[in-house]
Amino acid sequence: MVQHSRILVTGAGGFIGHHLVTSLKARGHWVRGVDVKAPEYARTEADEFVIGDLREMATCMETTAGIDQVYALAADMGGMGYIASHNAEILQANSLINLNTVEAARRNRVSRYLYASSACVYPEFLQDETDVRALREEDAFPAQPQDGYGWEKLMAELLARYYREDHGLDTRVVRPHNIFGPLGTWGNGREKAPAALCRKVALAKHRGDHRVEIWGDGRQMRSFCYIDDAVEGLVRLMASDYTEPLNLGQDRLISIADLADMVAGIAGIEIEKVFVDGPQGVRGRNSDNTRLREVLGWEPQVSLEDGMAWTYAWIETQVLERLAAGGEPDAVREELISAD
Ligand code: NAD
Repeated sequence: MVQHSRILVTGAGGFIGHHLVTSLKARGHWVRGVDVKAPEYARTEADEFVIGDLREMATCMETTAGIDQVYALAADMGGMGYIASHNAEILQANSLINLNTVEAARRNRVSRYLYASSACVYPEFLQDETDVRALREEDAFPAQPQDGYGWEKLMAELLARYYREDHGLDTRVVRPHNIFGPLGTWGNGREKAPAALCRKVALAKHRGDHRVEIWGDGRQMRSFCYIDDAVEGLVRLMASDYTEPLNLGQDRLISIADLADMVAGIAGIEIEKVFVDGPQGVRGRNSDNTRLREVLGWEPQVSLEDGMAWTYAWIETQVLERLAAGGEPDAVREELISAD
């Protein structure tokens, strides 16, 4: 029998947080969400939704009160374009969020705390080739993450461990690898490669200009995990007794150029890929899912083709709405593209 809990999702106005709230409600839990903003694309199903800034200790204390489980997802983050150019802001804001949320959870005697870290904790020197070896959890040390975002995540992982060891807070740590899907950021400068490519291809299709810009040479390799799998993995990890950091991602590698072609195929057009300078992140990154399978007895199920088809369909609708509302299509196109 499933036990119902009182659950706090931080970052519930964001992509993963919003989907997680929906899923937790469907599982019968009482859910409070907190974020500096409401979800952009759909109404939250949370029982309570607090608009608040988790850099403030008072917000952390207020929102963790009376809570059994915390999913700590709130973070100032985005795709490579954002992460690579906002190191100071990201490190400062996210450190405050993490320090205050975990301390408030301890003071309010929360029984379980899951921290969303990232695959960005892994050292750059293991990711400088396209034929990269999949990353195992123990690869995180010796540490050399890329960008302030990776250092901040690594520090918060340690914080979760020390709070468990020193204060008895029952913590979990997950390292998501490139989560994508509908209702995610697609055009405000924080979007990641799958959403950016869907937007660019949808624009190419509806403008009749089939040139699509790709950052770098397009040979960067990544794995991508659909949002429903990510949510399922989070819930399973929270319920497990595993306290060490755990990868959560797909382990199928694909180049960004091939992903662009896949999206074009879904859209039913041929594209001309134009390779331009832009932040690319590491050369190759993949998730080793050996431990994920061992610990959760499960692994992500949704194929990249299905996930991208559903994501493209949603983003194409968004793009068409924006084009319809924008009057002069060139201006809209310029705005959407320069947001990368
Ligand atoms: P997101 O940006 O959509 O959601 C994060 C939310 O945190 C946003 O809604 C934002 O407004 C909120 N937030 C930021 N600062 C805040 C503050 N001071 N107080 C309250 N809320 C604040 O990101 P996401 O994709 O949903 O990611 C959720 C978590 O998972 C993040 O911690 C992220 O680092 C981690 N993660 C995500 C991915 C991915 O591929 N999406 C990969 C690795 C790790």
